[in-house]
Amino acid sequence: MARYTGPVCRLCRREGMKLFLKGERCFSSKCAVEKRNTPPGQHGAARRPKIVGYGLQLREKQKARRIYGVLEKQFRGYFERASRQPGVTGELLLRQLELRLDNVTHRLGFATSRAQARQLVRHGHIHVNGRRVNIPSYQLKAGDTVAVREASRALATITHAAEFLGHGSPAAWLEIDRPQFTAKVLHVPERADVNLPLQEQMIVELYSK
Ligand code: SF4
Repeated sequence: MARYTGPVCRLCRREGMKLFLKGERCFSSKCAVEKRNTPPGQHGAARRPKIVGYGLQLREKQKARRIYGVLEKQFRGYFERASRQPGVTGELLLRQLELRLDNVTHRLGFATSRAQARQLVRHGHIHVNGRRVNIPSYQLKAGDTVAVREASRALATITHAAEFLGHGSPAAWLEIDRPQFTAKVLHVPERADVNLPLQEQMIVELYSK
């Protein structure tokens, strides 16, 4: 599946907030939002217009897409699958995004950003249930095990990510064995497990028009 390849800091400036798309740089003084939090473009610095109604819903959807690195067609596919399932559509949408293999790789601390995690998956460094999976959007299930391939454990990207992100616990729905570079999905994430500034109900309203 295709991915966005343009400048990423302008995506944060467009949303007016840090989306943490670049890993280490996002925590430094080089962050574009810290230096110049104005919308991108020639007239961006003039003013940030007040957004209401449809505009708010659109921004929430774009923000979610950008955080998880998903293009419009695939994102809509997630929404349509969520809307066919019993339950709260917005929560089911977020659950699918959280269960992507690239997101879980990032949440486990094997990569400093979702983009870096995506690359690790694409290059075959991540195994699921003992088998190599190189599809970033692969949907994990409760009980699945995720591991860094044995030969890849000394990769500078992975060791650096572990050092940079610290050795704290990942999300409560994941259990990690750091010395073994393996983890298990304990259960599917609930809304409270998704600590992102997203109002998923607005995304549902946007797509339900
Ligand atoms: Fe966003 Fe990170 Fe760029 Fe800052 S450094 S603007 S948080 S992508």
